[in-house]
Amino acid sequence: MRSVCCSAPQLAGLTPYDPKYLPAEAVLSANENPHDVEQEVRHEIMREVKRVALNRYPDPLANDLRDMIAEANGLDRDQVLVGNGGDELLFNMALAWGGPGRTFLNLPPTFSVYEANARLTNTTVANVPRRADFSIDEEAVLARVAEGGIDYLVVTSPNNPTGELAGETFVCRLLDATDALVMVDEAYFEFSRQTMRPYLGQHKNLVILRTFSKAFSLAGVRMGYLLGDAEVIREFVKVRQPYSVDAVSQAIARVVYANRAKFEPGIRAIIEERARVVDGLKRIPGVKPYPSDANYVLFRLENAGIIWEMLYGRGVLVRDFSRAPGLEDCLRVSIGSREENDAFLRALRDAVMGKC
Ligand code: PMP
Repeated sequence: MRSVCCSAPQLAGLTPYDPKYLPAEAVLSANENPHDVEQEVRHEIMREVKRVALNRYPDPLANDLRDMIAEANGLDRDQVLVGNGGDELLFNMALAWGGPGRTFLNLPPTFSVYEANARLTNTTVANVPRRADFSIDEEAVLARVAEGGIDYLVVTSPNNPTGELAGETFVCRLLDATDALVMVDEAYFEFSRQTMRPYLGQHKNLVILRTFSKAFSLAGVRMGYLLGDAEVIREFVKVRQPYSVDAVSQAIARVVYANRAKFEPGIRAIIEERARVVDGLKRIPGVKPYPSDANYVLFRLENAGIIWEMLYGRGVLVRDFSRAPGLEDCLRVSIGSREENDAFLRALRDAVMGKC
């Protein structure tokens, strides 16, 4: 049967990405930063935004921002690309490396956007599922890559939604074993402090994805960036929309990046709170949290879907993965403020103990 209004056939089985954008007292569902940008930095942002010429198109490649990111990472401008959120750069990867007759290697359960982008672009998806503890089945991945025919893959480190880092040695072996593009998605790198950046000069096929949405409290602005070989970046430039990063976002991101040291105490607080939340989860009977190097924690418990409802009824919004393949009975909580985390732990304990 033809799909609605004769849209492309690959859309037929696709459901739109749904972040479950719902109002709640404690929004702990989207791995955002609970601390908004501080007043002093906001004032600087306002001053900078006032100077933006709104009648002019923005610098298409946001070169001032590229230069700042390049310098901070010991790279040249042509080894950096910024995008309208990391999401846009992920889509660009599927456009540039995927397509009919090409194959993306997915390591589920992981960020669902990778697979959706592959399907949208008619790219074949090969899966090497993670082990029961969500660690990457390293030998299986290397064996699949050795078979050939893989055009690109993403190693998410820390992985979303499961939280664990990919091993540095494994990623190096992978980079040696294939010419496929290997993206290391480091959206949560500031919370794990582990990066593949030192390997960029050694492997042309390595590209790193980062975002301003998490550590830098800018989820509302949409700004992500890539670090990679200049030749790889040039391929990304070929498929990007000319003005995807608007002038106001560029100005905001420049100020935030120049002030990035000011975000460190907030990041440290989130890392400390993460330990407290994991500890609190372990104390609730029947709840199994998975170790996390990011700003969220995945946990497993019976009747997760019902518990999600009960939490939401108490004003706490977490992410329900209980019907997602490989994540049955799992919920994910983002690390919020101390008060939000306390509200979450209290509500979860009550829900599990049947006190709601
Ligand atoms: N990669 C991963 C693993 C993510 O979790 C996210 C955000 N949910 C992104 C990339 C994209 O982030 P953004 O578009 O906000 O930069």
